[in-house]
Amino acid sequence: MASRQTPDFEAWEALMLQAARQGGAGVLGSLLTHWQAHAPRQEILCACGQRMTSRGRRGKGLLTTLGAVPFARSFYQCEQCHQGRFPDDEQLDIVQTTYSPGVRRLMARAGSQTQFEQAAQDLLCYAGLKLEPREIERVAEDVGRQVEQWLSQEQEQIVQAGVGVPPSLEAGAKFYISFDGTGVPMRKSELAGRRGKQDDGSARTREAKLGCVFTQVGLDKEGRPQRDSESTTYIGAIESSTLFGWRMYAEALRRGLQQAQTVIVLTDGQRYNHTITQTHFPEAVHVVDLFHAYEHLTRIAQIFWGPEAKSPQTWRDLLEAGDIQRLAHKVSKKLPNAAKAKESLYKELGYFENNAPYMRYAEYRKKNFFVGSGVVEAGCRTVIGERLKQSGMRWSVRGANAIIALRCCIRSGRFEDFWASRLR
Ligand SMILES: [Zn+2]
Repeated sequence: MASRQTPDFEAWEALMLQAARQGGAGVLGSLLTHWQAHAPRQEILCACGQRMTSRGRRGKGLLTTLGAVPFARSFYQCEQCHQGRFPDDEQLDIVQTTYSPGVRRLMARAGSQTQFEQAAQDLLCYAGLKLEPREIERVAEDVGRQVEQWLSQEQEQIVQAGVGVPPSLEAGAKFYISFDGTGVPMRKSELAGRRGKQDDGSARTREAKLGCVFTQVGLDKEGRPQRDSESTTYIGAIESSTLFGWRMYAEALRRGLQQAQTVIVLTDGQRYNHTITQTHFPEAVHVVDLFHAYEHLTRIAQIFWGPEAKSPQTWRDLLEAGDIQRLAHKVSKKLPNAAKAKESLYKELGYFENNAPYMRYAEYRKKNFFVGSGVVEAGCRTVIGERLKQSGMRWSVRGANAIIALRCCIRSGRFEDFWASRLR
């Protein structure tokens, strides 16, 4: 017997995997051929209503998760208007693509998680698929747009019917709706004529809006409100606040808004936040983020006492108590002399005045509500920022929205639902 040598385990593994893929690709090819040969003959109609006639088979290379599979499908043509169709492609969900649904799913997922160059390396390493970064970009954005289409159809249905599909809220659950915006760096052509925060008044970014819905049943060990794990779903897009309001509303309905007894809207208090809340969630308790309020207090302290100043404890106590009237009174008792400082102070006071009804923090705490919009802010960083705001990135609105749709869908645990919807 030969001496026992140290095996090259990794080489064996790689070899077996390659063999399994090759064998699998062969079987998959046979399955497709068998399916084509035995599929019942159906009349193929053109969009114009005419019967289409078969013009023989046309081959195309198909890339599957098992590797390349040659595939020839029947081509049909209309004698009237000469339109063509590939009914087999339609049934297999491979119209105008050489990538199988399985490969497209991997490309979309990888391309939505990391930069396309990196995604190409990941797919080669994890799935043995050699793909160009540009192809991953194209397919990921295509799938993202299909996700967006699927979501907007669903949104329309839900809003028309007025109910979410499976109302599965736990009894006594508090229902949270929270939204915020974050700037996404854009290509120059997407910013023409837009005003922004750059020194010359031009814009470098456009605001992506992100919304989330989550629930809270209990408290943690320290008695603080605790978000139900896995309960958070996300929606988002670069779009007007009006359209975004409808998107947020549909998502809330889908998640069971109408079954919820306690509905809380958490925002940072921007003007459009109030408009959306009043339009779509008039029954909800609107809470303006406490931590933004603290930042505004600090800014007021800095107007009075310079850039290192912190807000006095008495102000903070009044804020925590939600006594905004007394807080504003206390702060504005002595006005600064400089005109510019006075103007800044009025601006800060305006923030408290506008948001006072949504700052009843003592009451919210007593009811065990969240008083911060940390969940959606973290979402802005993880769902949007980590993929769309890396250095050197410049997006088109179309491309950014496709990737945002994908990331929201995946983070909401709905990517499988999307693919299942394509089979129906
Ligand atoms: Zn026709």
